[in-house]
Amino acid sequence: MSKAFDVAVIGAGAIGSSVAYYNAKKGASVVLIDAGDIAESTSSRSDGNVLVCDKQPGFDALFARESQRMFPELAKELDYDLEWKQKGSLFLTETEEEFEIASQFCEDMKKCGIQMRMMDQKEVQDDEPFLAKDVYGGLETITDGSVYPIGLAYGLALGAEKKGAVLSLHNRVTGIEKDGNAFIIHTEKEDIYAKNIVDACGVWAPVIGKMVGLDIPIQARQGQILVSEQTFQVARRKVHEFGYMLTKFQNGGYKRPVSERVERNGVAFVFEPTASNNFLIGSSRCFAGENVSCEIDVMKALAERAIRFFPVIANIKVIRGYSGLRPYTPDHMPIVSGTPVPGFYIAAGHEGDGIGLSPITGKVMADIIAGDQPFMDLSPLSFERFLEK
Ligand SMILES: Cc1cc2nc3c(=O)[nH]c(=O)nc-3n(C[C@H](O)[C@H](O)[C@H](O)COP(=O)(O)OP(=O)(O)OC[C@H]3O[C@@H](n4cnc5c(N)ncnc54)[C@H](O)[C@@H]3O)c2cc1C
Repeated sequence: MSKAFDVAVIGAGAIGSSVAYYNAKKGASVVLIDAGDIAESTSSRSDGNVLVCDKQPGFDALFARESQRMFPELAKELDYDLEWKQKGSLFLTETEEEFEIASQFCEDMKKCGIQMRMMDQKEVQDDEPFLAKDVYGGLETITDGSVYPIGLAYGLALGAEKKGAVLSLHNRVTGIEKDGNAFIIHTEKEDIYAKNIVDACGVWAPVIGKMVGLDIPIQARQGQILVSEQTFQVARRKVHEFGYMLTKFQNGGYKRPVSERVERNGVAFVFEPTASNNFLIGSSRCFAGENVSCEIDVMKALAERAIRFFPVIANIKVIRGYSGLRPYTPDHMPIVSGTPVPGFYIAAGHEGDGIGLSPITGKVMADIIAGDQPFMDLSPLSFERFLEK
């Protein structure tokens, strides 16, 4: 590998695979490098939700909506079954007070063009017959969907390869040097030359950033999931509690009526049906370094919260659990931009949204590198926002 690639993407999770795909689609010569395999890290330890309902009104929601719009086309374009489904999502509100907060949120989202509506108690009960009878109401977002995250990353990476990209897997990047207009990327196997680098290493993006003198403010925010046995259809689509927004955005304004165990582990109920009729129960949030073990206390809190909303779950077996590291930034938005180092770009920090946001991230990163105007002003995603003014 002695020629200089136009673009070297470091990290073959959902984000890096998408960046490689859209750059290759634009005609750039691309190498996609990963220390392990495709989707070996967080992208295989997540749910597959493709949501706008859990974004903040404004830029966050509009960026996510644009990504959502790309999935039907992508599902046709890639030689991989993405298991793309668009059945909408349902946020549950547990109390009258939570219903009021959700109603205001719904109004704000509708003002920026997101299709949402509130549902009263009877409507949510009719929608999901196994729901606990005292659930107060809900919030429906009809454009929300789901995808198989590992299939998505594989589809994108192999799609990039089909368009001429080179996959350099099981090959850790160990250092980066600048040589004139190109970078020399030192890896375990060889030196790779590239005019541009995209750091798509998720929670490890700061390690790559340091190699070029950048301090990238991304931290690992752990999340755990339970997987059920194959069973009947407990819920027909993605259902979660509105309290998820409070744990995600660390909003202290409203306190949910939850147990100390649920509170301590940052657990909010998330239910995702899968194509194989297992279902996934999430999710927790905590800062625990790079620990990806499953803790019994968290698993109990996940089960407790799930049974509160769907009592029938008490009779269903959990077959396994897993844990992953969300790449968290202090303002909850990813970094998708250039940096003060010419030719060095960052596409990382997508926290709990990197599966859903992968198509749009890949597309805008390809536009930025090619010098084309992205579809909207991306300053909320700039690395610059974290630099001292
Ligand atoms: C429990 C949980 C549930 C989630 N649910 C959802 C959801 O429903 N919807 C959603 O949109 N998002 C969800 N997420 C978030 C989503 O999984 C992440 O945002 C996304 O996977 C991040 O992808 P990535 O490509 O940035 O990182 P990763 O998938 O972690 O990829 C980074 C890659 O960089 C590689 N790497 C690291 N260091 C080096 C090096 N030195 N050299 C070469 N390669 C290197 C790693 O091997 C890895 O493959 C969830 C996350 C968790 C933990």
